[in-house]
Amino acid sequence: MPCPDVYSDASRPSEPDAGSAEHRRSQLAANLTVVRDRIQRACERVGRDPGEVSLVGVTKTFPASDVRLLAGLGVRDIGENRHQEAEAKAAACADLDLTWHFVGQLQVNKARAVVRYASVIHSVDRLRLVTALGRAATDLERSVRCLVQVDLAGETGRGGVGPAEAVEMADVVSVTPGLELAGVMAVAPLGVPPGPAFARLAEVAAAVRARHAEATWISAGMSGDLEAAVEHGATHVRVGRRLLGERPSNR
Ligand SMILES: *Cc1c(COP(=O)(O)O)cnc(C)c1O
Repeated sequence: MPCPDVYSDASRPSEPDAGSAEHRRSQLAANLTVVRDRIQRACERVGRDPGEVSLVGVTKTFPASDVRLLAGLGVRDIGENRHQEAEAKAAACADLDLTWHFVGQLQVNKARAVVRYASVIHSVDRLRLVTALGRAATDLERSVRCLVQVDLAGETGRGGVGPAEAVEMADVVSVTPGLELAGVMAVAPLGVPPGPAFARLAEVAAAVRARHAEATWISAGMSGDLEAAVEHGATHVRVGRRLLGERPSNR
């Protein structure tokens, strides 16, 4: 019987045996080839070097064993969007040389705990969060890369500051000890073509970069829209489903 490429919560193996681990490895390898190919072709269309685009594997809802397999395939940037799940996986993979990216909305009271394992926070969108992250990073003697999340849709609840506020937020991050301003991040609005939104993000990124030359990162593009993001200058694409498979719930 073929292995399902979608695991339900109940059937997802927590400790895969050698056979299913090998099957999963080849599945992830095949998915990775497709995703890397998509990035490369998008780069070719706009004359970019694929080496400028980093792939962040978003492993939310998938087990630490998948993180381990991805690491073996060369994906060492790992994204998660919920603290407890991320913390457990980071602990389970502590022997691997990984960079953990926190990509979800982050509560101020979780900032300190997240800074213990994450070196990049993609979702910086409130001054109180900047303060909390800076304090945690300083106390823990860590340096945390921060991306200002830009709300391109005016959608409440998905996080992000308006394009007009992004430069101001970047200014604050840049002078906060413990934090390194890396750039901007966005999620494309649902239900409309992503190109115009990513073009807008590129403008915001340029405005930030005009004041902070070091802020070169543009985190944009997911499984469904990574081409449009790459065509508009994304330096980091965050890919979950097309790498790991469909998720059981809408996360
Ligand atoms: C889940 C998630 C992703 C990955 O989305 P896919 O559609 O599975 O590729 C990227 N960014 C954020 C912020 C996410 O929450």
